[in-house]
Parts: sequence; structure tokens; C-alpha cells
Amino acid sequence: KDGRFYQLCGSSVGGKGSVLLIFDVTEKRAAETLRREFSANVSHELKTPLQSILGYAEIMKNGLVQEGDKQRFLEKIYSEAGHLIVLIDNIMKLSRLDESANNMNNLEIIELKKLAEGTVQRLQEQAAGKNVAISVSGCEAEVEGVPAVLSEVIYNLIDNGIKYNRENGSVEITVAVIPGEAVLTFKDTGCGIGSADKERVFERFYRVDKSHFKETGGTGLGLSIVKHGVMFHKGRIELESELDKGTTIKIFLPRK
Ligand code: ADP
Repeated sequence: KDGRFYQLCGSSVGGKGSVLLIFDVTEKRAAETLRREFSANVSHELKTPLQSILGYAEIMKNGLVQEGDKQRFLEKIYSEAGHLIVLIDNIMKLSRLDESANNMNNLEIIELKKLAEGTVQRLQEQAAGKNVAISVSGCEAEVEGVPAVLSEVIYNLIDNGIKYNRENGSVEITVAVIPGEAVLTFKDTGCGIGSADKERVFERFYRVDKSHFKETGGTGLGLSIVKHGVMFHKGRIELESELDKGTTIKIFLPRK
């Protein structure tokens, strides 16, 4: 009656009265629904590029493609296969995060500014291709966590900051410390996210403009990985964005 689900797990009737065992299974049900939806989405997302690879390969196999079109067909097959690899990589990352959600072993002390600077290095080439300037400023801040997971979170946010930016734009990363928390801010000058989409961009496979993935190479999983990575560290995320102006995402992490 209150929108929650209960399950009767046992009952016993004795001489002096009876006992009913009723469990609240609302969260369990929600997790099951999410898992089911995720599996359905995974199959769909994997099938789409595979179907297109099969289609192009079949036309070529049957000798139906003209000599001049061969290169174009091969490039399509190559790019769809590349997309599949990124997709599978991201799905694996998410499932590893799901598995380790309750396993807070192997934590290390991480200095966020250094980690951000190192991650920027990995994206320099991509930023240069679009002439996007990336800067890291602020103070040093230590948190306890898993370096590979936090590095992935930072990587995905800067990667998005570049992908959805304009030519000659910028991505500013700032590290700050507030009572009890370290704050990482990612501010870009990109296309922004509309208010209806803001609610949904952290959902698995959600993309604002599905037709653009070929240009940007997105899978719709980047921000889900960010969300799970931050939740894993018991942190939180804030998103502010204005269409055609830019996006600011803040990550708050408990301080060591
Ligand atoms: P994708 O792999 O498509 O980038 P994400 O989960 O990282 O998937 O992001 C989901 C969607 O949110 C993207 O498809 C994009 O439309 C939008 N988005 C994410 N980051 C930004 C940003 N910094 N600026 C504008 N749009 C963004």
C-alpha cells in the first residue's frame, strides 16, 4: 500500500499464538529490475554494431560492392568493430564496479591533484585535436580509495569535457578542500545538457543525441561508470549545465 513490496517468508502457529515473517524486498526487486533492463540493453547495444558489420561483410562476400566502395565499407566495419571494443570494455568496467561495491579492501591514499594531472596527460592528444585547453589548478587533497577507479572517473569526465566541447574551448579542473570533503570540479565550455536530460545522463546507455555517437565515439556508459566509481568511494556528484554555454560537474569525496 505504501509503494513497497513485502514477501511472506514463513509463518508458524503455536499453542499460544502465531508468528509471521514478512520481509521488505523493495530494494531487492528494484535491483533485479535494473539487472534485467541492463541485460536487455547490453544485448541491444552489442547487436546493433554487429548487425551492421554482418551487413557490410555480407555485401562484400557476395561480391555486390563496387571496387570504388570497398574502402568505405571496410572503414565502416573497422569503426563498428572499434565501437564494440569500447562498449565491451565499458560493460566490463561497470560489472567490476558492481561486483566490488561492497568490497572496500585494497584502499590507498590518493592525492587528487596529482592523479588529475596524470590523467590529463593521457588525454592531451585528443584535446590537441580539437584545440581544447585543459588546466588543473587548486590545492592538494588526499582521499582514501582505489587509484584505478578514481582515475577512470576523472578520465571519463575530462573525456566528455573534450568530446562535447567546441573547437578552441576549455576544460578547467580544480581541486579544493572543504570540511570533511575533497572537491574536484570539471568545468567545460561545451554544448551543455538540457534540463530534461540532466536527470538521465547518469543512466546506463543514456545518450542525449544518439545519432552523434559515430562522431564522438560514445557508448552512453561513461557517466554511469563515473556515478558508480564515486558511489564506491562514498562520495556524491553535482551537475550544473546550460545549453550552448557549458557544463560543470563536481565530485565530492570524503577526506582521509
Ligand atoms: P557517452 O559515452 O555517450 O559520452 P556518457 O554516459 O559519458 O556517455 O554521457 C551521457 C550523455 O550525456 C552523452 O551522450 C552526452 O550527450 C551527455 N554529456 C555527458 N557529458 C557532457 C558534457 N560535458 N557536455 C555536454 N554533454 C555531455
